[in-house]
Amino acid sequence: MDFRFAPEENAFRTELREFLAAELPASWEGWEALETPPPEHEGFAHQFRRRLVEKGWFGMAWPREFGGQNASIMRQMVFNEEMAYHRAPTGFSMGLAWVGPALMLFGTPEQKQRYLPPIVHDEEEWCTLYSEPGAGSDLAALQTRAERDGDEYVINGQKIWTSGGHRARLGWLAARTDPAAPKHKGISMFVVEMDRPGISIRPLVNMAKMHEFNEVFFDNVRIPASNLVGEENRGWYQLAVALDFERTSVADTSGYRRLIDDLASYAREHRDRIARPRRLQVVERLIEIEAATALAYRVGWLQSQGKVPNYEASLVKTFGAELGQRVALTGVNLLGLRGQLERGDRWAPLHGRVARLYAFFVSSTIAGGTSEVNRSVIATRGLGLPRE
Ligand SMILES: Cc1cc2nc3c(=O)[nH]c(=O)nc-3n(C[C@H](O)[C@H](O)[C@H](O)COP(=O)(O)OP(=O)(O)OC[C@H]3O[C@@H](n4cnc5c(N)ncnc54)[C@H](O)[C@@H]3O)c2cc1C
Repeated sequence: MDFRFAPEENAFRTELREFLAAELPASWEGWEALETPPPEHEGFAHQFRRRLVEKGWFGMAWPREFGGQNASIMRQMVFNEEMAYHRAPTGFSMGLAWVGPALMLFGTPEQKQRYLPPIVHDEEEWCTLYSEPGAGSDLAALQTRAERDGDEYVINGQKIWTSGGHRARLGWLAARTDPAAPKHKGISMFVVEMDRPGISIRPLVNMAKMHEFNEVFFDNVRIPASNLVGEENRGWYQLAVALDFERTSVADTSGYRRLIDDLASYAREHRDRIARPRRLQVVERLIEIEAATALAYRVGWLQSQGKVPNYEASLVKTFGAELGQRVALTGVNLLGLRGQLERGDRWAPLHGRVARLYAFFVSSTIAGGTSEVNRSVIATRGLGLPRE
């Protein structure tokens, strides 16, 4: 088994580092430390993504017919690693991560032509409309209705925790089309334009004081029947495949590695202030990050072989999400009381990043399927254990 990257992948990594050194301002600190990104940063992030699009790096692993470069999955992974390590403002695109891949598998030729190129050109943002107040882990219990009426469907119901719903132009919606069928068999997937009459969006602010997710209400929202993706009432299968794409894209070990490097450099500078046991926690996290990286590479390799990872994706998601929480806790322990200071305070170490991440990562073991649910997936699909 050869764990090395190919020479062309290493050359690409060097190219990316040179690009980032030239494009990111010397004072660039990255997004996650910011409570509300100031408008000048949003403008910069937009310009930065335009540069990525020009280079053909946004969605590079997609087929050329949809605007991608047919790049290998490993090249895409090198790109993701370098962007995360340098905290580049790539944004997170649900379109690239799971809506697009699901449309490639299940969409009509017209849907592919209409929706895929704007994703790769970063022209349309998507949100994901799965969860409801009474349906999260038990997603098949969702109640939002889509009723056929001539050439249209009429949508009624409520979604919750819709990340980026306030920015998105398009929604990837799971709705019930046959209430009489067993719950997994009466669901269908749709594309919804988020500016349709009858849609209202209410913000939910998280404990890290960020407005990322929302409640979305549908009141007699009419969409063309051609917005149905795949077969009516077969949506659960499509949704499960899209969830596997989602779970492979959540863990970001390269970003953790950057935080550990920053903490190690802080510990070197303040050796008199930090007791040895607290310094050694950084070592434990480094070991775990190496293991998480190997798990993520394995999923990348499976994808490069044309396979859709399933329990392996849950493995990466569970370990990665819990590791993020441990990395943040290690940071809090290492920085001591000062670590609670926020960005803008002159005594705040590492720009107040650790306190923010500590609050932010609480949700990582819930988003994209909870750790408990992912462990059940590993138990049944990975080990063949009985469900009950
Ligand atoms: C940051 C963030 C972003 C999100 N973004 C989106 C989004 O964009 N779109 C979207 O649709 N949703 C989104 N979600 C919602 C997310 O998918 C759900 O929160 C998640 O699936 C859990 O559902 P729930 O909140 O209803 O919790 P519940 O399902 O009510 O779970 C509550 C607790 O019970 C446990 N539990 C439930 N069932 C079982 C079981 N069978 N076995 C063992 N334990 C169980 C859970 O693990 C959890 O600890 C987001 C959530 C977060 C935190």
